[in-house]
Amino acid sequence: MRCPFCKGEDTRVVDSRDADGGASVRRRRECLNCAERFTTFEKAELSLPQILKSDQCREAFDEAKLRAGMMRALEKRPVEADQVEAAVHRIRHKLSASGEREVPSSQLGDWVMEELQELDEVAYVRFASVYRRFQDLDAFTEELERLRAKSGADD
Ligand SMILES: [Zn+2]
Repeated sequence: MRCPFCKGEDTRVVDSRDADGGASVRRRRECLNCAERFTTFEKAELSLPQILKSDQCREAFDEAKLRAGMMRALEKRPVEADQVEAAVHRIRHKLSASGEREVPSSQLGDWVMEELQELDEVAYVRFASVYRRFQDLDAFTEELERLRAKSGADD
C-alpha cells in the first residue's frame, strides 16, 4: 500500500479493526518514510466471472444451482455431501482463478463433468448423457427434473 502523502511504498499497520459489522477491515497505517498516518478499508472481493449461457445471455454464477445440478446427478449414489461440497469449491475456485470477465456455461459444464468423473462413474454418465445434448447447466437441470417427474412415484 503506497503512502498517499509521499508515495512511499513502505507502510506499517498500526491499528486494525472490523468495520461494517465485519464486512470490511479498517486499518490505520503509518508511512515509514514520512511518518504520516492514513486509513484504509479492505473488503473481500469475490470477482467471479459472469456465466455466458448458450443463448448468449449472461448470468451471475449460482453456486446453489451448480450444487443442485450435481446432487441431481448424484442422486442415490454413494457419495458424501462433503465430497460434493469440495467439488463445488474446486469449481468455484477454477472460476475465480480464471481471471476472465465471463466464462461460457459449457466450460462450467466441463468442470462439472471432470468432478463427477472423479466422484462417481454412474453420476458422470448420467450427467454427460444429458448434458452433452443440452450444453447448458440450466437445461440439464430442467431435463433431469422432467425425467424425474416422469419416473414419478418410484422414489
Ligand atoms: Zn509517506
